[in-house]
Amino acid sequence: MSNSLVEKKNNVWEMTLKRLNGTMSLLNLKPGMKKYLCEPRKIIEVAVTVKMDNGDINIFKGYRVQHNTNRGPAKGGIRYHQDVYLDEIKALAMLMTWKCAVAGIPFGGSKGGVKVNPSELSKRELENLTRRYTFEIIQNIGPEKDIPAPDVGTNAQVMAWIMDTYSIDKGYGVPGVVTGKPIALGGSLGREEATGRGCVYSILSALKVSNIDTTNLKVVIQGFGNVGSNAAKILYDLGFKIIAVSDVRGGIYNKKGIDPYRVLKHVEKTGSVINYRESENIAGSKIFELDCDILIPAALENQITKGNASKIKAKIIAEAANAPTTPDADEILKDNDIFIIPDILCNAGGVTVSYFEWVQGRDAYFWSKRKVNLQLRDVMDKAFYEVYDIHKKNKVDMRTAASILGVGRVAEAVKLRGIYP
Ligand code: NAD
Repeated sequence: MSNSLVEKKNNVWEMTLKRLNGTMSLLNLKPGMKKYLCEPRKIIEVAVTVKMDNGDINIFKGYRVQHNTNRGPAKGGIRYHQDVYLDEIKALAMLMTWKCAVAGIPFGGSKGGVKVNPSELSKRELENLTRRYTFEIIQNIGPEKDIPAPDVGTNAQVMAWIMDTYSIDKGYGVPGVVTGKPIALGGSLGREEATGRGCVYSILSALKVSNIDTTNLKVVIQGFGNVGSNAAKILYDLGFKIIAVSDVRGGIYNKKGIDPYRVLKHVEKTGSVINYRESENIAGSKIFELDCDILIPAALENQITKGNASKIKAKIIAEAANAPTTPDADEILKDNDIFIIPDILCNAGGVTVSYFEWVQGRDAYFWSKRKVNLQLRDVMDKAFYEVYDIHKKNKVDMRTAASILGVGRVAEAVKLRGIYP
């Protein structure tokens, strides 16, 4: 879908602002505070010039948006995707601000992106693009300023190139400029699967408060990248039945269950989940219509819409992706009594272990995987029950409750710090 169509149909920035306005009214914030929270602190737009393998020069549009730094340095992933546009990056940066506040970790919110299809670039071109993008935003990132991490289309290798470029510029090694980097460069054990693991912890809490029996629960996952595949493996190991998964090329279904480890091997060989032998292919759109207990959107924003929300049969939707559900769809899901674990709570595991990575780097002392996972569980459980208490006490849905918690904490920090000068 072309950018203009995406922007016209469901502008994720406008939807995020609409939701924020609702929360700010519930919090009775003053008009000045409302204006402050709506406005990103810094928007950087750059031309990323890359010499391609065939000698051609290409220019890709790159962005870095820092929404808020009142609670700590800005923190947020970098996305490489052909549909990246500024309003999307602004929305994702704002969601990072609320997410860090919900998790109670001392970071603000940011996001970056380059409008590029990374699968069309060679490894060398990808490295050149990453290093040039880093160079273009280099004055604005740093361990105390703004700390990138992986998101859609980027990974630990991309973080290593960013770290190296930044370190060369400074003249000494600065591992703390990124998180989600390889273990050999100071990454944290458990970071790779942290978003999926955190999502699973939030599902376990949701099952507890909903009194749902955890035996034989059927799970459907949209998106089988870092987050979707890790959530699938952890749930599978806990005894959940993964009946369908999908990626950008389509979905696969087996009502008896799918072994995600074997699907991953198939993906490594073929590049997609489709045509996996022990399942049948289904259209990607069918994934939302399957009879299941837990649905995990783990791809992109705007996937659950007015058009498909009424077809969803799951009891719980765990939003591993950012902004996968439109406000129109929210109303339908609410009417159908579906329990939503909202993105800023459900996928906070990634930034939480990023925070652990940053802390370990500062101490130059590295934790065991067991310690990382136990601390992650503590943070996720605490955040879940804080949100759940607001949901119960204020009689608001879980998304509004998470937003009240996150926006409320940021507003308090803004008030305490005051406005300069
Ligand atoms: P990824 O690039 O590793 O994987 C994305 C997956 O989604 C791929 O399998 C891709 O094929 C699939 N996909 C893309 N478009 C699709 C479509 N239209 N239908 C079905 N599948 C589609 O990305 P990721 O890191 O796993 O991120 C997934 C989501 O989780 C994003 O919304 C991201 O912002 C969010 N998230 C990621 C992290 C993290 O630590 N990586 C942290 C928090 C939130």
